[in-house]
Amino acid sequence: MNALRSIRGMNDVLPEESAHWQFFEAEVAALLGSYGYAELRMPIVEATALFQRSIGEVTDIVEKEMYSFADRNDDSLSLRPEGTAGCVRAAIQHNLIATPCRLWYQGPMFRYERPQKGRQRQFHQIGAEVFGIATPDADAELIVLLARLWKRLGIADAVTLEINSIGSLAARADYRKALVAYLEQHRDALDEDSQRRLGSNPLRILDSKNPSTQALLDEAPSLEDYLDEESRLDFAALKAYLDSAGVTYRVNPRLVRGLDYYNKTVFEWVTDALGAQGTVCAGGRYDGLVEQLGGKSTPGVGFAMGVERLLLMLEAMDRLPTPPSPEVFVVAIGDSAQRAALAAVEGLRDHRGAWRIVHQLGGGSFRSQMKKADRSGAELALLWGEDEVASGEVTIKPLRDDGEQRRVAVDTLADTLNTLLGSQN
Ligand code: ATP
Ligand code: MG
Repeated sequence: MNALRSIRGMNDVLPEESAHWQFFEAEVAALLGSYGYAELRMPIVEATALFQRSIGEVTDIVEKEMYSFADRNDDSLSLRPEGTAGCVRAAIQHNLIATPCRLWYQGPMFRYERPQKGRQRQFHQIGAEVFGIATPDADAELIVLLARLWKRLGIADAVTLEINSIGSLAARADYRKALVAYLEQHRDALDEDSQRRLGSNPLRILDSKNPSTQALLDEAPSLEDYLDEESRLDFAALKAYLDSAGVTYRVNPRLVRGLDYYNKTVFEWVTDALGAQGTVCAGGRYDGLVEQLGGKSTPGVGFAMGVERLLLMLEAMDRLPTPPSPEVFVVAIGDSAQRAALAAVEGLRDHRGAWRIVHQLGGGSFRSQMKKADRSGAELALLWGEDEVASGEVTIKPLRDDGEQRRVAVDTLADTLNTLLGSQN
């Protein structure tokens, strides 16, 4: 029978990679915690209607990328394609938005896309949302937090911030009309995708990658000219905050984002280190979403970063730590030695934060066990044979230098390791 394989675009994180994930997740969690964000853990499956009502019926995600299915009760459920909708749903359900609050989440998201480097069908995001603050200082704080993160990770020079304001819903509706009127006159010059979007989601045409469509857009009405006064002022204030915080940015008047719920500020951090999949983090304001999903009108702003893409960047830029080797490798020859070794090693592990100790299990000759000890990268091997058992001792053998082999009483082993390896307690 053929061995079963993982689903296309859904990858295992292998042991040699998971240390990188843990490093990355710990860095981001620590930073978010230091800004007052608390983690929200949400279900991976939600009602399909949640995504239809938030992300929007005519977006790429809802139209063609969602994993939706009927459960045994014939309810339509979907694997979450992103985290904001679920976060807003949970915040309303548990009344977390009564006062301003800062939340973050992490975990797998699912979109039926064409898998390629930096694009999977199961991918991972870490996201943050701020509820209850309508002023652009909240947008600014999210952005400076991210700028700090890139600095901490050592990739600040390889990412660029793009920002834009897409205005109020009303302003965008006016602009949409003007844009459609203009593009209708040039329909034949549009690429196929853009022709389709003209009727459903014309703003998305702005981020078409097609050169002739881009050329048409040079002469198109500009979103900036349609912005309402409040959006204009907030955008100016955001830029002033970023200027005074020393965060550099590029205003990209064609940045619109693929989800319907945004208004005012939108932003993306992009890199050219990853080929076509250049956006590593994206976000914006969504002041209407809470109300749209049945909550009390509450402003919101947030972002989500793509973990796989950031890990690819960190790897390419050699910014990932090497996972530590064990410090101690335990070798025992014979049953009674194995029993003595297991008990003594458990004794060592009683110390809080004890050393990283790998115990060779399953027997084997002295030679083959020592080979494994050497390959493990450990500093020291602890050896038990019949002699050691008889005398209540253990042999300590340095593996990395030609230090002296010695035999010590098992009772004093922890003290000796403290001296040789440094205290872990
Ligand atoms: P893209 O334009 O690359 O498709 P998007 O605008 O659809 O991205 P968002 O919904 O804003 O992406 O998600 C935020 C971040 O999540 C992206 O900037 C990206 O880093 C990451 N991301 C989105 N889709 C995928 C995917 N299929 N595989 C890996 N990462 C992804
Ligand atoms: Mg996408």
